[in-house]
Amino acid sequence: MNFIQTRGYDASKPKNVTFSEAILNPIASFGGLYVPESLPSLGEEFLIKHINSSYKELASDMLSRFEIDIDKSVIDEALNLYDKFDNPKNPVPVVKVKENLYVSELYHGPTRAFKDMALQPFGIVLSSIAQKRDEHYLILAATSGDTGPAALETFKNRANVQVACLYPDGGTSDVQRLQMVTEDAKNLKVIGINGVFDDAQNALKRLLASDDFKAALKKKNILLSAANSVNFGRIIFQIIYHIHSYLELVRQGAIIIGEKVYLNVPSGNFGNALGAYYAWKMGLNVSKIIISSNENNVLTKLIKTGKYDLRDSCVVSTTSPAMDILKSSNVERILFDMFGHERTKELMQELESKNFYELSADELAKLQESFDADFCNGEEGKRYIKDIFYNHGYLMDPHTATCMKSYETCSDPKIKTIAYSTAEWTKFSPVIANALTGEIDAEDILALESISKEANLEIPAMVKELFTKPIAQSTIIEKEEIEKEILKFL
Ligand SMILES: *Cc1c(COP(=O)(O)O)cnc(C)c1O
Repeated sequence: MNFIQTRGYDASKPKNVTFSEAILNPIASFGGLYVPESLPSLGEEFLIKHINSSYKELASDMLSRFEIDIDKSVIDEALNLYDKFDNPKNPVPVVKVKENLYVSELYHGPTRAFKDMALQPFGIVLSSIAQKRDEHYLILAATSGDTGPAALETFKNRANVQVACLYPDGGTSDVQRLQMVTEDAKNLKVIGINGVFDDAQNALKRLLASDDFKAALKKKNILLSAANSVNFGRIIFQIIYHIHSYLELVRQGAIIIGEKVYLNVPSGNFGNALGAYYAWKMGLNVSKIIISSNENNVLTKLIKTGKYDLRDSCVVSTTSPAMDILKSSNVERILFDMFGHERTKELMQELESKNFYELSADELAKLQESFDADFCNGEEGKRYIKDIFYNHGYLMDPHTATCMKSYETCSDPKIKTIAYSTAEWTKFSPVIANALTGEIDAEDILALESISKEANLEIPAMVKELFTKPIAQSTIIEKEEIEKEILKFL
């Protein structure tokens, strides 16, 4: 299967490209994105066939239906990385929290957040494409805390790939920072910046667009790519677990095949939600996808009013920082799917030039057939964490907690909900400790210990050992020095 472009075709790039090409050069004509020409239709048969399959068997069959230009042996090797998750037989457990509410836990990988679901296999796929083409890549990553650790972990010691990872010094949790600065491998460089996440992200965008930087890399025989969440190589792995989670409910006797469920997704860049939408289009029985946000609630406004409005907004820092995003990149793929490339180009160009677009009444009605949304502020989120822990015995992180409000305001209680949990409690422990006991901990280690005692949960070994591991990456620089520092590393 080939990939086409969300904003149409500007005659400067091929009209359609292979999966490998879409992964290596993710930006399409007019600044658009790549999307599959069509989605494979799986239907009920596929669900029935996989009722007793392992996660890997399900994943392997689903991926094969896309007919991408990656050898089956590479796909199998990539899927074997799910063996590193807590339970290799079931890397994504689905847990009943209360009547009709189930939580699908996407955080059981090596870096304890949902980014591992896609980045773990993606690392193998990208490295194998680079080797096959006999090319060397520099992968740039800018992180507010979860993508960086997951990208470093997946590319560590992989052939033909080097990674430079930028993070805002002081802008991540201790656990997130330690996950990055303790990574010790020759092909990894972690760079702390005196600045905020936007400074890291802007530096990355500037380098990706810089001809001088690319020319300097070319002299060293290195090409440039990025591991950000618009890359279809990540999206494809984010369709699988939605199908898996549905089948888990069938296996638990909670639903029968054919029954509709809500998928409730804590959203930032809309990659997780896009995976849910594609799974639905491929044949999963879904009542609606519910988009949960924090105070950065542009997506709630879009889905409720049809207006994408950034004119008076700036990003605010919240207790769920992985969702502190205003330009939610993957929404573009939904616009394309619903309204076609001409309209997508028009809307995206309006957003770029006026910081605003508005859907027509018909378009909004169409969007609302598939999506509903609400947002939850930090205080409400902490109340949900506390209530659900003390009344239902389930501990959730602040990102997952945003789903609890929209669960109450957007769903018909007779229909079952799968809410997605995107991070383990260990990654955002000061907020959770505060929610449970009111304490204010400046350091993660204190919060981890107190939650561990309060909730009677072990701190997982890979988190505990971070605090005693040697620091391998100690570069902290001003944002003006980033380019020089990366070239020095190469
Ligand atoms: C990345 C992330 C999200 C947002 O996912 P998107 O696919 O960007 O919508 C939510 N929660 C956590 C913990 C994350 O790391």
